[in-house]
Amino acid sequence: MFKTTSNKSHSQIQKKHVLWRNIVLALLVGALGVSACVTTGPRGKKSFLLFGTDYEVATGKQINEQVRLESTILDDSLWQSYITEVGEKLVAVSDRRDLGYHFAVIDSDQINAFALPGGYIYFYTGLLRIMDNEAQLAAVMSHEISHVVARHGMKRVQKGLVAQLGYAFVFGDSESSQVRDAAVGVGLSLVFAGYSRSAEAEADRYGIEYMSLAGYNPQGAVGMFEHLAEAGGRNANAFEKLVAGHPETQARIDNAESQIAAMGELSSGLRFNRSVYQRMKARLPEVIEKPAK
Ligand SMILES: [Zn+2]
Repeated sequence: MFKTTSNKSHSQIQKKHVLWRNIVLALLVGALGVSACVTTGPRGKKSFLLFGTDYEVATGKQINEQVRLESTILDDSLWQSYITEVGEKLVAVSDRRDLGYHFAVIDSDQINAFALPGGYIYFYTGLLRIMDNEAQLAAVMSHEISHVVARHGMKRVQKGLVAQLGYAFVFGDSESSQVRDAAVGVGLSLVFAGYSRSAEAEADRYGIEYMSLAGYNPQGAVGMFEHLAEAGGRNANAFEKLVAGHPETQARIDNAESQIAAMGELSSGLRFNRSVYQRMKARLPEVIEKPAK
């Protein structure tokens, strides 16, 4: 329990806490392996990260186990290899290839997708059903890969962890297993709370770049956002739109269009791959209508 000390001023106690928190954090970082400046975007963009890739992968793995316990994974080996093939094509042109990425489909009506730290990427069948070509799938996939490249998840965990460490210190508990639990807790909640508006805009921007590099027509991103705008009225959980800070769909369309216009004339070789996507879409399980109450 936290005991107040009557002969010390409040600010002295606070200072002591901050000092201790920094020491604990420094020790932990030392124990877990520091990663200083890492590449987090196209053209060598760098960010400062406290935790290295090993820690990120270990945290992501634990969050992933939790996600798997709570979800129904689509049991279709063709979809599994299709989504992995599209994902790997985009990873190959991305700015982060130091991870073994994992791709999977969750059988759920939600119109959404998400990425966990460490490269775990999930699509809901509800989202796959509103797309009509592979370029649209690549648009969502490259957006999710961009969250991993930019370490948006880990930056969030890092922020939450510093807050939790302060809490742990006050209650006299800063064991590293507890810190890992805290990281998993923060990580899990971020899946449902989403990222900031600027992180989302960044993922959209990198995503359009990566999908074009991988040979997809970036107009697929515009088409994807247009489908979202249509679906938005029916379902609030659209493509990470659980988030208050998410950019409005119309703003995403406008930003994508001006980014594509700035690319100049698009190569005629950039693909939409409509027919292969339509064949895969036909394999998705049928939506089971919920009985009316
Ligand atoms: Zn996002």
